[in-house]
Amino acid sequence: MKFSLPNDVLMIIDRLDRAGFPADVVGGSVRDMLLGRSPDDFDITTSATPDEIKGVFADFRTVDTGIRHGTVGIIVEGRVYETTTYRVDGEYLDSRHPESVSFTRNIEEDLARRDFTVNAIAYSPTHGICDPFGGRADLEKGIIRAVGDPDLRFSEDALRILRGLRFSATFGFEIEEKTAVAIREKAYLLKKVSAERIWVELRKTILAPHSYGVLKAYSEVFLSVMGGLKELELPSEEAYASADLLSRLLSLFVSEPGAFDLFCQALKTDSHIRRLGGSILSSVGKYDLTNGLSLIRALRALGEEAVRGLIKLEITLGNVKSDSLDLLDSLLTRGVCYRISDLAVSGGDIMTLGISGRDVGLALEKLLTAVIEGRVKNERDALVNLLRKGI
Ligand code: ATP
Ligand code: MG
Repeated sequence: MKFSLPNDVLMIIDRLDRAGFPADVVGGSVRDMLLGRSPDDFDITTSATPDEIKGVFADFRTVDTGIRHGTVGIIVEGRVYETTTYRVDGEYLDSRHPESVSFTRNIEEDLARRDFTVNAIAYSPTHGICDPFGGRADLEKGIIRAVGDPDLRFSEDALRILRGLRFSATFGFEIEEKTAVAIREKAYLLKKVSAERIWVELRKTILAPHSYGVLKAYSEVFLSVMGGLKELELPSEEAYASADLLSRLLSLFVSEPGAFDLFCQALKTDSHIRRLGGSILSSVGKYDLTNGLSLIRALRALGEEAVRGLIKLEITLGNVKSDSLDLLDSLLTRGVCYRISDLAVSGGDIMTLGISGRDVGLALEKLLTAVIEGRVKNERDALVNLLRKGI
């Protein structure tokens, strides 16, 4: 089997090889190539120690970001290629990080520390595939299987639980039985994993094409990291399939909207998603999204982004059709007035009528209501007249 690797990767492997250090591409990139997908990046693994790697690439710029774990970044034409010494992890005491790492000259020992068989395959153009754990067979059968004893591997590093679920959701692979049992039994260790890492994995999982079945089948595992949500209720599979990340995520919280804020706090999501999601969830069912006036009222109360998100969520829930998005777009392209700044008068105009202080803002709000409800046109003279008469 021969893969075409980028020239820079071939050059790095070739140089190391010539210097007497076997080198391979490894992990996700080999998995992706075997699946016929083009990898995002290539991780290189070699018997050379970090100092030896730097010696071989003395004429290149290198970065030491992961050097404690054996990773040297080699910079070739502005791109960083992470090159890692074959490594054996020491003892794991915190269910997340090894206490120490040591280097080895044996690639099979390096592959043994990797999480799943499909991620434990190495490839080099000179010596081909190295696959001591049957990763290729599992790729062909569509199976996610832990390397070695799954109980032990998830106890060492509980993040692997979420990675396994993510790979299953990404590739539509079944999780092998013992691995699946261990995922459920060791899920309690996920509390040791940082909020940031959980959120990264959860996002990728929810976005993945086969997430529906995985969320359903492993709902207790997901609930254990979802900040107090009691039940994982999913919308219809068809609607979920065409929903974006935010709608998919929010659809899980529709029956317990209060749990969303706790979820955002627990997972330290960015504050934008917390505010936006909270505003959308608290508006579900409150507006007739098929009616123009009602949509304008929603725009005034929530703003464009939240109204768009609300419509998408209600589409995911099967409450409205995509016509509502078309209606929203037509209102916005028509330049419908829904904000104070859309009014044909300004605060300055109002002050010339002898109104001052807090009353300026109140007058503008009243005018906006009058325009939205169709009682006056959004034209300067008409608005001023209305104010003169008293609203
Ligand atoms: P992705 O497509 O998300 O990049 P990946 O498998 O390449 O998937 P990375 O996080 O880039 O994932 O890791 C590269 C490789 O390092 C993996 O393929 C796997 O061999 C190994 N690896 C990563 N994280 C772990 C872990 N927590 N435990 C064991 N091995 C891991
Ligand atoms: Mg990767």
